[in-house]
Amino acid sequence: MKIRQKLCVFNSRLRKRYRIINLDDYPETVNDREIYVVGDLQKPQYAIFLCPCGCGQKIELNANPESRPCWKIQWHLAGTLSFLPSINRKVGCGSHFYLKNSKVLWCH
Ligand SMILES: [Zn+2]
Repeated sequence: MKIRQKLCVFNSRLRKRYRIINLDDYPETVNDREIYVVGDLQKPQYAIFLCPCGCGQKIELNANPESRPCWKIQWHLAGTLSFLPSINRKVGCGSHFYLKNSKVLWCH
């Protein structure tokens, strides 16, 4: 079995931070470079954004610990957020990345 080293590096092309938009309900439109956090910011229900690879697919992350899988949303003083664990798409483009400090950190 070939072991691939897993390194996370910033992709300079996608270094721009996401804008965070807090909503009560599911967003009507999902724009590029925006993360929609639905529900109370301290107890969000889920987060929605477009896949950073450019494939145009919507990614929905459940943040409610009562259902699985669940992502933890960490807020930073600068008003940015991080998701834990990483986002590993099993369908479509297969992208694997971290969202840290509202920026994409690719896993290769
Ligand atoms: Zn993608």
